[in-house]
Amino acid sequence: MSAPESIMELRRLTKIYRSGKESKKALDGISFTLGPGLYGLLGPNGAGKSTMMNIITGNLDATGGKVLWNGKNIVRLGARFRRVLGYMPQQQSLYDSFTGRRFLLYLAALKELPRADAAKEVERTAALVHLETELDKRLAAYSGGMKQRLLAAAALLGDPQLLIMDEPTAGLDPKERVRLRAALAELAHDRVILVATHVVSDVEHVANEILLLKEGKLVDHAPPAQLIEKYAPGGTLEDVYLAIFGEDET
Ligand code: ADP
Ligand code: MG
Repeated sequence: MSAPESIMELRRLTKIYRSGKESKKALDGISFTLGPGLYGLLGPNGAGKSTMMNIITGNLDATGGKVLWNGKNIVRLGARFRRVLGYMPQQQSLYDSFTGRRFLLYLAALKELPRADAAKEVERTAALVHLETELDKRLAAYSGGMKQRLLAAAALLGDPQLLIMDEPTAGLDPKERVRLRAALAELAHDRVILVATHVVSDVEHVANEILLLKEGKLVDHAPPAQLIEKYAPGGTLEDVYLAIFGEDET
């Protein structure tokens, strides 16, 4: 089922926000390459995680550098890139009067999935996040965790080869966090999944690699065990986080 290639590369990606005389460098020359696997983009609030994800998903223009998918600039790939992309934004409003099923069918249509496949695809993605029995409830009756899982299902519509998730466990209770983590780990064997979080435990035992982002710069990029050995020997990933970002940033 996997495409012949699934490789995302960032080359010297830079973003400067400008408004009037003010300017803020949110990303400062970020370069890395990701093959199939689960990656944790870890950093405190303001590190630049959402900025990076908004550029990867085409919702924001970079100031410099580029994003490549299988060697091709995503800006040039356009719709061909959007077809392999699934995105769960950090914030998204939901229509309370919709049922879960109607919401997913609506997003399937926006993604231009073939109509004949949409109903089945909605069932499939809902099952991945254990929402299959809740699909005919209105969103007004969904808990925060159910809404978050519905957004994850929406990102999975069309079986994307690249899945970008911005703080996907926000608002989830511990049991639901574990469930979502397990679902992502399972999905990661044949696609690229990048998960932004400031919560170490979200990515600690499931991510193949952790990308540490601090003030728009990539501090390091390695499997968790290697980061622990380097920054907090004998410790945990939490200790790595504290060593790099400081006690007051958690
Ligand atoms: P994170 O997702 O890691 O919390 P963001 O990408 O949201 O970080 O923000 C990175 C930096 O860019 C922060 O200093 C933030 O205040 C700034 N920033 C984000 N969006 C804008 C914007 N639209 N205009 C100006 N500055 C912004
Ligand atoms: Mg963010």
